[in-house]
Amino acid sequence: MARTKGYPEALDNKLRDTRLYEDESHPQFTKTVEKVSMTIPHMCYQCGTCTASCPSAPRSSYRIRKFIRRALLGLEEEALTDPDLWLCTTCYSCTDRCPRDIAPTDVIMAMRNLAFKRDIIPVNFLKTVQAVYTTGHGVPNNDVNRAARKKLGMHPDPPTTHRHPEYIKGIQKIIDHYDLKKNADRIVKEREG
Ligand code: SF4
Ligand code: SF4
Repeated sequence: MARTKGYPEALDNKLRDTRLYEDESHPQFTKTVEKVSMTIPHMCYQCGTCTASCPSAPRSSYRIRKFIRRALLGLEEEALTDPDLWLCTTCYSCTDRCPRDIAPTDVIMAMRNLAFKRDIIPVNFLKTVQAVYTTGHGVPNNDVNRAARKKLGMHPDPPTTHRHPEYIKGIQKIIDHYDLKKNADRIVKEREG
């Protein structure tokens, strides 16, 4: 919240400058992203430090700086329908280094939430929701890992829901509160039958 303190007025002034917009731009999208992310993409001066810090950038077409620009210009469709939106690892390197004290990671998370509300989400993310719901892990343990852990003198399972499955119910309660599993199941079924 501290990151937005004192800035809403500056954003309002910037949004009044219609020269910033093209037909497909939605100033409301900028405001929604700022509200959901609780950060200040309109303060971006496109220095590129975020992209230069990003571990996904050298391996893909994903450019965080581009998404920050889309947030500022209100390019909702362009931002939410770009599959690159899902290539951020949420490592927070960009947030640590942004000289304008913007949290680009939180902008991406906000856009993902807005995309998910419109069922725009890759199936593998939904399968992660299903895995967390069933096992408490996005990537559950498997026999190969168990053998490797044993070899190292460790317990075959980590001290998580794998060893304490009684806590899975609590995780399910949280996920159900947001209808995440229900929506994940529905979308996976629609796409894969
Ligand atoms: S590091 Fe910050 S100011 Fe620079 S381009 Fe990225 S978001 Fe904008
Ligand atoms: S948080 Fe996402 S966008 Fe930022 S540096 Fe990490 S992978 Fe890149």
